[in-house]
Amino acid sequence: PKDYVKPDSETATICPYCGVGCGIKLQIRGGRITGVTGDEANPASNGRLCVKGRYGIKEFVHHAERLTTPLVKNRDGVQVATGWEEALEHTCSKLIRYRPEETAVIASAKATNEENYLIQKLARAVLGTNTVDHCARLCHSPTVAGLATAFGSGAMTNSIGDIKDAGCLLIIGANTTETHPVIGFEIKKAVRRGARLIVINPVKIPLGSQADIFLQLRPGTDVLLLSAMCKVIIDEGLYDSAFITDRTEGFEALAATLRGFDLDHAAAISGVPLDHIRAAAEMYAAAKPAGIFYAMGITQHSHGTDNVSAIANLALLTGNLGRAGAGVNPLRGHNNVQGACDMGALPDVYPGYQETAVEACRQKFEAAWGVKLPQQPGLTIPEIMDAIDRGRIKALYLVGDNLALSDADSNRVRQTLAKLELLIVQDIFPTETTDLAHVVLPAVSFAEKDGTFTNTERRVQRIRRAVKPAGDARPDWWITAELGKRLGGRGFDYEGPAEIFREINALTPSYAGISYDRLNDGGLQWPCPEATHPGTPVLHTERFTRGKGQFKAIEYRPSTEQTDAEYPFILTTGRSLYHFHTGTMTRRVNGLLTLQPQETLAIAPYDAARLNISDGDTIKVSSRRGEITAQAEVKNQLAEGVVFMTFHFPETATNILTSPAADPVAGIPEYKVAAVKLIKVIKS
Ligand code: SF4
Repeated sequence: PKDYVKPDSETATICPYCGVGCGIKLQIRGGRITGVTGDEANPASNGRLCVKGRYGIKEFVHHAERLTTPLVKNRDGVQVATGWEEALEHTCSKLIRYRPEETAVIASAKATNEENYLIQKLARAVLGTNTVDHCARLCHSPTVAGLATAFGSGAMTNSIGDIKDAGCLLIIGANTTETHPVIGFEIKKAVRRGARLIVINPVKIPLGSQADIFLQLRPGTDVLLLSAMCKVIIDEGLYDSAFITDRTEGFEALAATLRGFDLDHAAAISGVPLDHIRAAAEMYAAAKPAGIFYAMGITQHSHGTDNVSAIANLALLTGNLGRAGAGVNPLRGHNNVQGACDMGALPDVYPGYQETAVEACRQKFEAAWGVKLPQQPGLTIPEIMDAIDRGRIKALYLVGDNLALSDADSNRVRQTLAKLELLIVQDIFPTETTDLAHVVLPAVSFAEKDGTFTNTERRVQRIRRAVKPAGDARPDWWITAELGKRLGGRGFDYEGPAEIFREINALTPSYAGISYDRLNDGGLQWPCPEATHPGTPVLHTERFTRGKGQFKAIEYRPSTEQTDAEYPFILTTGRSLYHFHTGTMTRRVNGLLTLQPQETLAIAPYDAARLNISDGDTIKVSSRRGEITAQAEVKNQLAEGVVFMTFHFPETATNILTSPAADPVAGIPEYKVAAVKLIKVIKS
């Protein structure tokens, strides 16, 4: 290429965008990133990258808008640049005034394992609260709850590398080629080799066109469709009776519930013809091993945990667990959302999912950290928001999360955050959330620090510092450790991430055998309990983590929000290939902005014709919570009555529209189903 610059050096590290965790090599010249190539030695990606990993990194790392100095709000409400000493002293002098129950912490799925470990340690051991959560609450908390109940572990059961072994791939509620593109590539490769493909989605996603069977269900009806598939498998005797007898419990209760299940009703409500449901069930049961892959189309519902349990039922019925090419595979969104969960950035568990409510676990961490730990259970992100509204939580330490744009019903979220007496936000760019902060602490990007990320297949991988920090920005681990020390915490004198990782080893059984030295060669998949253990590509091979796999009988509950005469369309949301979440990084990359410069409202041709809407018309989209405008894009992939938007652009803040109605088990909001009305305001 014309702009090729020969690098002085290369640094092998991991892509900072999605949970696939592709290996990248950053090419460096003159202290700056000049290019990115795929790391062929990386077992998760084998040198492949999507457009974000290949072209979406150097511009944001070196972007002029990076936060480079701490900011503290003055008496006039203006954020003023200060030095670190002043900012940290100011922050600690304020933070120390609040009681544990008045304080909350939100950790970051963008930060490293070492950083998340320290953030939850600060919350529990220094601030005295278990109220620490992170954005997994908004993406895969139903996975953690649903799969832990079914299998005893809430992570992807299998590996990216064994997609090639599948006889059948069932992709539900995941737009894999757009949101986990390198896994999407593996799926397409497996299909070319002969694997059968079933795609279930309210939108005809690109993989839908290549599927043997594509089922376009109505948003929010997954439990009905999956239960119907289970009933077909039982009625037709397609289940794996040996596996059920040897390795599961609760089958009779499930079978009894499904005995009276009305298949015609399920077909009518889900909008999927019964013979298509039957064909999908038969194909999934027959073509073993069969792997299920899902993402937020399953979890972001007020019945997200039920959706996950229905998926687990399907895999347990057919014995599709514990072997290569099979499994239940939640695709994690952020680069390190798996690791942030593993590190205990959750209100009910310490690192390694050791429960805060269990006396022995608490005693173990009290002994290690040399403090008495809180017994009171912590709050989830939606509960934190409610507690702020009620004046109970007054101070929030928020790391690497643009909640003001990413949380559902975002108008309310901004009003809520504005009520805080003390909002401390740590990030790499100014965001809609740092705008509200009393203190802004500038963090470094992934390319400017060392540590580890854990990808969607539980693979712990090293990230390595390639360039100097922007301005006076510091690594999150350094900032959190400074706060810990200055607030009087013991055990925050770390020389660097390697020392923190050794502490993680000592306290987290599934990470006990992992060391930085062992990660130089492609990473290790947990559980890895000993220094000689090779890691675990497939979970539950001999027995489930909980012993036996647990079936769960599930009753269908409709989505909380229904359409009516005033709000006749269902809005469902998702991501695009070209941008990542609230776009903090990707909207600062010109090439990606050229590929997708703005938000659009995708609408079915039938609905567009009925409302006299054409491509490019400006549409006012209103829900019961607020309104935004977006340009129309008429797409065959949408079904009648359903519209689709992403949430990458602040000027079209889609989450103003989405519903905060929460899953009662996991607390996740119902991003995928919001009733909206459409009014054309400008003709293109
Ligand atoms: Fe990065 Fe995900 Fe793309 Fe891989 S698939 S390059 S991890 S964004």
